Amino acid sequence: MIIPKEPKLTAEQLREVESIVADFQCNIHVIAGAKRNIYAVLGDERHETMVNRLLGLPYIDRWDAIDSPYRLMDIKSELASHPIELAGILLRKEPFFIAGQCTIDPRNPNFFLETAAAVKEAGAHMLRGGVWKPRTMPYSFQGDDKSLEILLEAREKVGLPINTEVMDEVQLKKVIDAKVDMIQIGTRNALNYPLLRKIGEITAGTNVAVILKRGRSMSPVDEFIAASEYIAVGGNPNIVLCPRGTVPGMDGYRNHPDECITPLLKEKTWAPVVVDPSHAVGRAFYVPSAALAAMAYGADGLILEAHVHPQEGIGDDPKQSITPEVLKTLLADARAVWGIRQKYEVIN
Ligand code: PEP
Ligand code: MN
Repeated sequence: MIIPKEPKLTAEQLREVESIVADFQCNIHVIAGAKRNIYAVLGDERHETMVNRLLGLPYIDRWDAIDSPYRLMDIKSELASHPIELAGILLRKEPFFIAGQCTIDPRNPNFFLETAAAVKEAGAHMLRGGVWKPRTMPYSFQGDDKSLEILLEAREKVGLPINTEVMDEVQLKKVIDAKVDMIQIGTRNALNYPLLRKIGEITAGTNVAVILKRGRSMSPVDEFIAASEYIAVGGNPNIVLCPRGTVPGMDGYRNHPDECITPLLKEKTWAPVVVDPSHAVGRAFYVPSAALAAMAYGADGLILEAHVHPQEGIGDDPKQSITPEVLKTLLADARAVWGIRQKYEVIN
């Protein structure tokens, strides 16, 4: 990684740097850091002559060769000081809560508008709403473009920033045009490297955040962080990691709850961790326990499915959405647990 002296290289300086690394079959990718842009060298960045030539340039401050499989997402990376601020919340410094329906029902827009107002009242900072849904069966409801309009209407009326999942580049283009605040990559695309990179590229230099769910079959911690590196390499460091349960190993829960991965992630990466207990346990009744456990494990926040009338919802809502009343109590308790856990940041 090249770290310049000034916040950004000029176009001329960037051309010079690019021509040097090209001599060693490498390319440059620009990542907007907190204080300065950083310039990732793609390819084998360990050529000594290349590094020496770069360090000889008067406008280069330093060369950061992090010995890590994920140089940008590594806790030792220059990006560790990159602040991610969403809805006025500075992630990692304050708990951050996303809530809303699994799926927006295009035939019942009022449910979503009511849910949006209710989750805001309950204390959520961001509104989630599924527009296009990854469904196991091709015959199940797959989502509808009309739901994007409902999501935008809810943002407008309620004033919460919005999150939705995309699964391909066509959907990606639609959410970019709609200026969606956070893009979700679901568990099924957690290892779709071209899509991850593309999202990073298309959102580079913007405030758009990307939340990456953990793959259902993803086991090693490194594999999860490395997947997020693709988004960073694309150019967007506004990345949030989301454990959401892995292949079920226990009868009863929808997935195997994996909030306990949080401390392991935090040892290795600077990325905020926002846990999804809804998909982990798959039943509204279990969600509060899993959510509070996640906060106790050191999560920076939660993403929760919530609905004003879960039984009349579609997708996952009838099974796993909590009501606004439960959400309100849960968010207050989650804050309290966050506060309790903070003590150990200091004394541990
Ligand atoms: C969702 O958030 O509604 C969803 C489908 O999530 P996941 O990709 O984690 O299953
Ligand atoms: Mn869902």
